[in-house]
Amino acid sequence: RPQAPVAGPETTTHCPYCALQCSTELSGGRGRVAVRPSPDFPVNRGGLCQKGWTAPALLGTPGRLLTPLVRGTDGVLAPASWDAALDLVAGRLREIRALHGADAVGVFGGGGLTNEKAYTLGKFARVALGTGQIDYNGRFCMSSAAAAAGAAFGLDRGLPFPVTDLDGSDVVLLAGANPAETMPPLMRHLERPDLIVIDPRRTRTAERAALHLQPVPGSDLALALGLLHLAVTESLVDKEYVEARTTGFDAAWEACAGWWPERVEEVTGVPVAESRRAVRMLAGARHAHVLTGRGAEQHSKGTDTVTAFIGLALALGLPGRAGSGFGTLTGQGNGQGGREMGQKADQLPGYRSLTDPADRAHVASVWGVDPGSLPGPGRSAYELLDSLGTAEGPRALLVFGSNPVVSAPRAAHVTGRLAALDLLVVADFVPSETAALADVVLPVAQWAEEEGTLTSLEGRVLRRRAHLSPPPGVRTDLEVLHGLAVRLGQPPDRFPVRPREVFEELRRATAGGRADYSGVSYARLDAGEVLHWPCPAGDDDHPGTPRPFLDRFAHPDGRARFTAVEHRPPAREPDAEFPLYGTTGRVLAQYQSGAQTRRVPELVEAAPEAFVEIHPDTAGRLGLADGTFAEVASAYGSARARVRLTRAVRTDTVFVPFHFPGAARANLFTGDALDPRSRMPEFKVGAVRVTPVGER
Ligand code: SF4
Repeated sequence: RPQAPVAGPETTTHCPYCALQCSTELSGGRGRVAVRPSPDFPVNRGGLCQKGWTAPALLGTPGRLLTPLVRGTDGVLAPASWDAALDLVAGRLREIRALHGADAVGVFGGGGLTNEKAYTLGKFARVALGTGQIDYNGRFCMSSAAAAAGAAFGLDRGLPFPVTDLDGSDVVLLAGANPAETMPPLMRHLERPDLIVIDPRRTRTAERAALHLQPVPGSDLALALGLLHLAVTESLVDKEYVEARTTGFDAAWEACAGWWPERVEEVTGVPVAESRRAVRMLAGARHAHVLTGRGAEQHSKGTDTVTAFIGLALALGLPGRAGSGFGTLTGQGNGQGGREMGQKADQLPGYRSLTDPADRAHVASVWGVDPGSLPGPGRSAYELLDSLGTAEGPRALLVFGSNPVVSAPRAAHVTGRLAALDLLVVADFVPSETAALADVVLPVAQWAEEEGTLTSLEGRVLRRRAHLSPPPGVRTDLEVLHGLAVRLGQPPDRFPVRPREVFEELRRATAGGRADYSGVSYARLDAGEVLHWPCPAGDDDHPGTPRPFLDRFAHPDGRARFTAVEHRPPAREPDAEFPLYGTTGRVLAQYQSGAQTRRVPELVEAAPEAFVEIHPDTAGRLGLADGTFAEVASAYGSARARVRLTRAVRTDTVFVPFHFPGAARANLFTGDALDPRSRMPEFKVGAVRVTPVGER
């Protein structure tokens, strides 16, 4: 929806939402900021989705936080000065640490934070607070894909090739990804290839596919093993590639040898002919890609599922081959950079390990601290939230850029744990559902008011530029962390407030790491250079690495690794009490927990409320009519939303989007089963019962 251009200087920056990071031009002053897509940026090519077009509305959203709030003895959040709020937070943190130890303070970050903020947050936790209890909402997003890619390729970069490579592909398999709704401009790169979509729902992406495989929820791993089985038995394996560039094929084949087509059909519901056609399409293409999304990843076996799809791609000789590849469609705005900069429970900046002495020593030297003072790994996101307020868990939590009351699994339980804290501090620019529970709320600047960098899903480092100054009373996250660190006794220059200074430091911290940013600079980015990491510093300017696996993979032997994985059912299968599969996901006009997009009038008009997608045959059996209200209940809890009849879902499945608050929270019925390796919760499949209710 084009808007009339506004006269005046334009600022080139990027959309505040998803990992596609569409480039935009902002013009006009506060209250009349207009956006248009940058015409030449190769990723969005002059396109934006509805969220991008309406993003300026966030800048003046009614109810925006403009002053710190402190909860008084009457239980009400009341305005306070910055000094009073920060003094209070620092004082309470000191008390809690003195009483219960450093790990009694936790930090919860976000995949939308800039690289500079994510880096500073990890450093703040480990240096200023001395706690190992830091993780972030990206654990709920990309952790399974990251674990699988790291093991297979020796390096986790969502797309190890530019998005534009998809233009030349002949066949793209999308396993559990729905970009037509989640990142519509990406579909411009998927017009030429034939699409194979694996999704239990007939999504907008599936409608455009040449082939839609609609498996039983939670059976994607069996399907992936079956596809690999077919590749072998139909003699479609690229033996030369497997021999030259991989290890472990025999064990992977042994693990899928029993997944003959009829057994796969029995478990997944996908007809043999469709599986066979999918493998033949991929194998027969000159160039092909296999891409996974949250649908395949957000399971208690998500890492193994992605590993199996990587195995299929390796068998067909796709990863690291020019014009072909394997990748994952990272979701959050800085989902890629956010996982490299040290806000993850087990990692230091540059993907360095918290348990490797050399890695610890390198980062400690950049931070000017003793390596022995750095804590070890902490709990993963759900485990951290689950432990809050218990004898073993943190008594205080600082939340930056996240809204776990809506976005965490088993939401009622998590809300209870947050309420049990001695101190909850939330930094945000809107009064999110999590901020509503806080003891102290700190109002921070937002996307078009701040400088920094983000790293898109293709590993390209991008500049975020300020078009406006933050409104009076609002500070940047870096200023907040600086203010707290100084009050906690840190030297002022250890926590810079200028993003450029932070970036210079993170260049040194990541130098020599797997995600090496040392050759990237604001000057190079501002000069228009296209830089994908790894980009090491050297005598000459390194050109960056858009395709890191062309010559070799990142393991010491240069080879990619097949890994044998076993299919297993979801943590909870439907039974007599909860007879349907419940799955959750996204809609086009909302983003993540909806804390931002539920405040944009045009997006509210397009997607005003949660709904329960249910097949008409199932609805008829349960006495549900379109537009009435239903309760979706699991062993963990229940959500209520309006019924939407559609043949897009299987008769054994209901779908609820997770962007909405209150009793409509889809995460009220998601469970706490975790992937043993990535610690990803099982958002995508559960056992539920659906019953009519009179009202929401
Ligand atoms: Fe923004 Fe993503 Fe939409 Fe692009 S696709 S406009 S980055 S939300």
